[in-house]
Amino acid sequence: MPATTPKPKTAADRKKRFAAVFKLLDQMYPDATCALLHRSPWELLVATILSAQCTDKRVNAVTPALFEKYPTPHDFAAVRPEVLADDIRSTGFFNNKARSLVGAAKRVIEAYSGEVPRSMDELLTVPGAARKTANVVLGSGYGIASGIVVDTHVQRITRRLDFTRQTDPVKIEQELVKIVPRERWILFSHQIILHGRALCVARKPLCAECRLEPLCYSRDKTV
Ligand code: SF4
Repeated sequence: MPATTPKPKTAADRKKRFAAVFKLLDQMYPDATCALLHRSPWELLVATILSAQCTDKRVNAVTPALFEKYPTPHDFAAVRPEVLADDIRSTGFFNNKARSLVGAAKRVIEAYSGEVPRSMDELLTVPGAARKTANVVLGSGYGIASGIVVDTHVQRITRRLDFTRQTDPVKIEQELVKIVPRERWILFSHQIILHGRALCVARKPLCAECRLEPLCYSRDKTV
């Protein structure tokens, strides 16, 4: 394993280091993409709301039958939340999620003619869609790079890689969009999320297997 490179001292060195991280992420996770199954921005919005405090795997086990039972936003808007809660029970927090989904469907129908809106400001008016959800839907549903998804993996790993020292997701995103080139915003989150699942896990990251290790001076490192 090569020695860890010293911390960059100048802005130019910092930039070079970020570029080296992007290059390695491309090599490690060339095909990184959204893990939530979906066929439309609406289905992605539903899946993302369901994914709060739940694994993508579990959400993917629930959504095919859910979308067969409720194929459109109109079907979600018409169901009583307590009935929908039963259909999504295994994703946890099902009462809140059911209320959000019914509310989201009603909002999308009433304000946006049944189409999930395509801007951050509009999406933030949809029940259940905070900034992270809106970035997922815009990025992976529409291919619109409006910001960077900051979930728990992105929070942890961008701090470990010294992209940011912030702890608040909104502030982390504000810093990341200055560092990560816009054409990478969508891909970057997917790559970091995959890295967080594969190697840079919360406890005892697998640093000996990590190609970013020479560029990483996190105190959590295990080598
Ligand atoms: S070296 Fe370890 S802490 Fe650093 S990015 Fe890789 S897995 Fe994460």
